Order: sequence, then C-alpha cells, then structure tokens
Amino acid sequence: MNIELINTGAELMLGRVLNTHQQWLCRQLADMGLVVTRQVAVDDSASAISQAVQEALARAPLVITTGGLGPTSDDRTRDVIAALLGRKLHLDDAVLRQIESYFTARKRRMVESTKVQALVPEGATVLLNAFGTAPGLVIEAGHASHCDLPQLLVMLPGPPRELRPMFTNQVAPLLKQRYPQQTALVCRTLKTTGLGESLLEEKIAGPLQPLVAAGLELGYCARVGEVDVRFAARGELAAKLVAEAESLARSLIGELVFGADEDSLEAAVVQSLTERKLTLATAESCTGGLIANRLTNVPGASVVFWGGLVSYANEAKQASLGVRAETLAQHGAVSRQTACEMADGARQRAGTDYALAVTGIAGPTGGTADKPVGTVFIGLATPGETLVQRHLNPFDRETFKWVTSQQALDLLRRAVSGLRTSA
Ligand code: ATP
Repeated sequence: MNIELINTGAELMLGRVLNTHQQWLCRQLADMGLVVTRQVAVDDSASAISQAVQEALARAPLVITTGGLGPTSDDRTRDVIAALLGRKLHLDDAVLRQIESYFTARKRRMVESTKVQALVPEGATVLLNAFGTAPGLVIEAGHASHCDLPQLLVMLPGPPRELRPMFTNQVAPLLKQRYPQQTALVCRTLKTTGLGESLLEEKIAGPLQPLVAAGLELGYCARVGEVDVRFAARGELAAKLVAEAESLARSLIGELVFGADEDSLEAAVVQSLTERKLTLATAESCTGGLIANRLTNVPGASVVFWGGLVSYANEAKQASLGVRAETLAQHGAVSRQTACEMADGARQRAGTDYALAVTGIAGPTGGTADKPVGTVFIGLATPGETLVQRHLNPFDRETFKWVTSQQALDLLRRAVSGLRTSA
C-alpha cells in the first residue's frame, strides 16, 4: 500500500528546524507494518501544499500531512486541503470550547485569530489536541479510480509535543483498525563499532544471501564511529528470518557488536562494568571530558564511574596524573608513553580497576610528519597491564572528539569482555 507523508513549513526548507517528524512518523508507521513509500517537505505556501497533496492523493490511499494547522497567517494546510477537496469549513463548537478552556486554564487571553483553529472541513473527524490548541483532522477523501482502498487524509499539527501524543493515542488506533491486514514489520538493528560499512558488508552479505532471498531486508546505516546493521522482514516467517539473520551475523561479526536497537556504546560499557563489579576513572586531554560526559549520560553510572579529569595542559598532566617531565620532553604530550602514564596515574590516584586516558592532536594545526593532525593515543590501565592504541582520526574537531571517545569506550568494552584489544 502506498503511504505518503508531507511535512510542511518554511522553517524546514530554510534549514532552521530539523524534520524530526519524518523520522518519528516513519518509524511509528513502519512498526505497525505501514511503511511510508514517499515523503516530501514543502514550504507553507498554498500552492506548494496544494500541489504536494494533489500529487500524493494521485498515488496513495493514505496521506499524512504535518504542520500548518495553527492560528497564524502562514498556517494554511487546513484551508488548502478543504479547498482542494471541495469541503466547506464550519465552526466546530466542541473544538472552540476546547480552545477556550485551554486559554482559561492558563489564565491567558484568547486572541480572536485563534478561532480559525475551530474551523473544520465538512465531514472531517476532529483529533482533539491535549497539548495545544490546533486540532488534528482526518478526512475521508473518497474512492479514487487508481486506488483499491478509499482514501484517507490525516492532518497533524507541527509542534512535536502535540503531534506525537496525538498520533500515538488517536491516529495509530484508527490506522490499526482500518488496515488490519498489514502484517507488522519485524525489525532488529545490531549496533557495531570498529569497522566501516563496506568492510562490514563484505563480512556478512554473502552468508546472509539465502535469508535475503527468503525475504529478509538487510540495511546498513553508517554513523560517526558506528555502523547499524538492520534486519527487517514481514509475514508469518518474519520473526524467524530476523532471528536467524541476527544469530548468523553475530557468529561472523559478534566482537564488533556492542548492542542492539536503541543501545549506546556508553550504556553497554556501564552495564559490562556493573555486571563485573568493576570501576573506572578517566583522564582526558583531546576529548575534553566527552568520555566522562557520555558515561554520565547513563543512569546508574555512579556505581562504576569514579570520575574523570580533563588534563589538557602539560602541567595538568604532571600535577594531577604524575606524568613525568622527562616523558613529556622526550616523547611529547601526544605519545604512547604519555598516554600510558596518564592511564597509570589516573588508575593509581583514583584506586579504580580501570583507567582510560586519551591524548591526541585535534588540529587544525599542531601536526608533524611523524604525528599528523588526527593522531591519538588511547591508554587503558587494567589490573594486569596497560594497553595503548594509536589511531588516526583526521576529522573536524567535533568529529575527532566523538570518534576518539568511541574508540576509547570500545577499547574498554573489549578489555572488560576479554576480547581482542589490538587497534
Ligand atoms: P502552531 O499552532 O504552533 O502554529 P502548526 O500546526 O501550525 O502549529 P507549524 O507552525 O507548522 O505547526 O510548526 C510549529 C512548530 O513545530 C515549528 O516552529 C517547529 O518548531 C515544529 N515543527 C514543525 N514541523 C516540524 C517537523 N517536521 N519536524 C520537527 N519540528 C517541526
């Protein structure tokens, strides 16, 4: 079944607002087995909205729009769609009362223009807005000659905190009832780090081919320092196919997999340390505290995370971690030896089981032929030995920091789990 999503708003086209509705709604719909077949974003001019809706209705039995239901002059979706479908607008008393009570409850004056939100196209079903004033609307658009199914147009408000509960509580139940024959999509994502997507594909695509031939959808999503491997399938055998794919992939690339679906690397590390009752300290130079930040985003991290030091200047590395002046003079702040002494110093001073240290050249200046911009040393002091990895991350500063934090957390994950730790 074709399903089309139209996101409206000049702010989307001007790059002022990230189109999170696209991702969120596609995800919700896909989980119900309703996969969006086409999505467009258009500005909020009447002509752009009208053209986009007309085109979508020429292809799809289900069309969803977002935005443009508010009270201001640039909110045109309701009017445009009513005109397009030849439906008159009438003032809906129940909606008007709801809008009035919204303002009364907040002791705010209701501006006259707000009333336009109570205008409802003939025959439309109103979706009351529990978190704002603009109601959503559902219109049965009739039976088009090109569609087997009667057409349905769903209009949702723009603000995410209004759209999301409205979709979950009112639209999703309606769609489930209307399209019961859609078999839900079974979807599983393996989260990996340590290998690029092409290399990953090279390892698993061949062995997974028979499952793909049997209906498995295999997808890759490269993020900074991570690659998601996504398995999806529909139908009676979907759960079995996806489970088989996951198990086969884990047997081939299991070491690279740190979690599944919504898991984060930092959460996996905290969980791994917690299960083993191990503690950690950090000593960060070039990542400026990002590793500590990521760890402390995980609820319950205080059980395992002692704390961290941002030892940026050489003096800080010496005074707070005990890095020797000779080491700095002889090998430099960005060196295997310094990373090792930073990790050892942090572990000793904190009295933790592990200490993770990073030192590197974020750039854009400061590189040499020997140690170009992007060079990073990651030290990990463990109860048995101190490991040091060298990496080259020649990216902008923000990406450099993220990739480095990813490599450091992954080194820790591997060491704690007894996996191979050579870079
Ligand atoms: P309002 O009553 O606020 O005018 P509306 O239904 O008319 O609601 P818009 O004016 O189009 O909606 O959008 C309101 C706000 O919602 C935008 O400023 C933006 O912050 C957010 N928003 C709109 N569309 C999106 C989107 N696709 N993704 C994320 N946020 C969005």
